[in-house]
Amino acid sequence: MEKAKKTTRIAVIVLNICSLLMIGALLFFYQKFDANIMKNQDRNAFLTSQVEEQNQLTDDLSLVFKEKQEELQSYNDFEKLILDEKEAYYNDILDLEQKVLKGETKKKIAYLTFDDGPYTLSESFLDVLDEYEVRATFFYLMKSTETGYENENETYDHIYRRIIRSGHTLGNHTASHKFGEEGVYQSAEYFIQDLLKNRLFIYNRYDYMTTIMRFPGGSQTSSMAPAIFERLKDVDYVYVDWNTQTGDGGKNVLSVETYTNNVLNDTEGKDILVVLMHDYSYNTLKALPDIITGLRKQGYILLPLCDRSVMCH
Ligand SMILES: [Zn+2]
Repeated sequence: MEKAKKTTRIAVIVLNICSLLMIGALLFFYQKFDANIMKNQDRNAFLTSQVEEQNQLTDDLSLVFKEKQEELQSYNDFEKLILDEKEAYYNDILDLEQKVLKGETKKKIAYLTFDDGPYTLSESFLDVLDEYEVRATFFYLMKSTETGYENENETYDHIYRRIIRSGHTLGNHTASHKFGEEGVYQSAEYFIQDLLKNRLFIYNRYDYMTTIMRFPGGSQTSSMAPAIFERLKDVDYVYVDWNTQTGDGGKNVLSVETYTNNVLNDTEGKDILVVLMHDYSYNTLKALPDIITGLRKQGYILLPLCDRSVMCH
């Protein structure tokens, strides 16, 4: 009996120990489980914060993109505005041409043109034109340090850019302006290629498309000209000559007074004037203020050429 009691007590103790061990084990696993849950919760919280951060970044970026896009759009609008203004300006000039031709106004038009540049002296010409608030036309060659043409040690970027920015017209006077067997008039095809070379040079470098050209020496210089006239249409060019000039193109340098008078005394019966000058001539530069004021006194409005002008062919 005593033995049975002892055995029962031992069994109870063993059972208690087992229960305690089980509870211990349960507690241990529960804690671990709980820790895992906590860990997962932390991870989820971390991931959520990451996603939120990413979303914020995406929002910020789209905002920046939107702002940039709007900024870009405003530039496009601005460019369009300038083009529209320019178009309206040229339309006014063309209207005035018609009124002048029909005798509906006492005003006359003078287009000042400067050939063969750019030159170092061109800047001084631009200064005078600025001072007198005149917009003119420049028929330029392909000149830069890289092209290998004359004055290759000089870069003229600032002059090309100033002409374009100031609202003057930039025309094409061929790339090389060369005469003779190796020159631009050797064939119509050669002429066109030389002309297009200069167009591409100006377009690539200054984002400006020339549409008016002037023949080196004028359209009557070469027997090749009629063949070239035909090709000009295909490449969207019109050409313009002149009906008065300072006479500064010759080898002999004439006086400032001669250059002034050559222009001012050769306007009779010419209601639309195209004046040929060269922006390499010091005496033309000195004559320019008198030419401008003299022409204005005669009733001329000084304007830049547009490719739809009656003077262009
Ligand atoms: Zn020339």
